[in-house]
Amino acid sequence: MTVFITHPSCLQHEMGPGHPESPERLGAINDALAASGLEPHLARFEAPAATVEQIARVHDRRYVEAIEAASPSSGLRYLDPDTALNPHSVDAARHAAGGVVHAVDLVCGGDYRNAFCAVRPPGHHAESGRAMGFCIFNSIAVGAAHALAVHGLSRVAIADFDVHHGNGTEEMFSDEPRVLMVSTFQYPLYPMSGIDNPARNMVNIPLSAGSGSVAFRDAVRESWLPALEAHEPELILISAGFDAHRDDPLAGLALTEDDYAWVTRELMAVAARHASGRIVSSLEGGYALSALGHSVAAHVRELAGA
Ligand SMILES: [Zn+2]
Repeated sequence: MTVFITHPSCLQHEMGPGHPESPERLGAINDALAASGLEPHLARFEAPAATVEQIARVHDRRYVEAIEAASPSSGLRYLDPDTALNPHSVDAARHAAGGVVHAVDLVCGGDYRNAFCAVRPPGHHAESGRAMGFCIFNSIAVGAAHALAVHGLSRVAIADFDVHHGNGTEEMFSDEPRVLMVSTFQYPLYPMSGIDNPARNMVNIPLSAGSGSVAFRDAVRESWLPALEAHEPELILISAGFDAHRDDPLAGLALTEDDYAWVTRELMAVAARHASGRIVSSLEGGYALSALGHSVAAHVRELAGA
């Protein structure tokens, strides 16, 4: 059984025709889960809106207020060339972050072992004071900070397998020794970060274009797993982007559904040893709709133990 969290507002945020970060992504995930037979293994919850206090643990309070103030009454307001607000976007971003907070509460409360948040906008590019790369509030970072502040955890880990480097998460937690971040990403590729003297708690593994299962699994085995074992996280959060899939139109790695199932099992094994199995995963990228749906189903199937 795994917790599955989403919110209707996440379907109403949209950034114009043809934008790859579209509401159809959540539709593709729903379709794939419906076809997968996993429904009996899901405990569904609706995401509450994160409070300003929760978001402001990782974002500047003035940034949060500026985003709220920038919400348009109609049309689109651009925050960067790739990232825009429609009238529902701020609500969606608050529920996306709130979904991860709620997942942390449920998993740390002990009734459930793990959770997946099918929410958008994604979050890992959002910095403490800046929206970018389709991201407004950094949901996984909000969840990590919540686990530390409210549940009394002293060590958490964030695993980020999105094809893009999670620059926002890195900016928020560099030199925060309670947080270990392990990531793989295509380099060079947007946002061109992650390779210049990362902090000691950042395990950043760049992969060159064309890399597939072997390079990814080697990086996880040789770099992520030893760092995770040494950190002994009491909770593992996953920035679950599926845009390293070979079908994805925005990047050039060559992962498959099997790789996502494999890395999920590896992270579950670490969580079983150190975190009573606790994992909170949240959707980041993934823009090939069919591949996204199948990849999420593979990830959730492992989480659910189905
Ligand atoms: Zn991405």
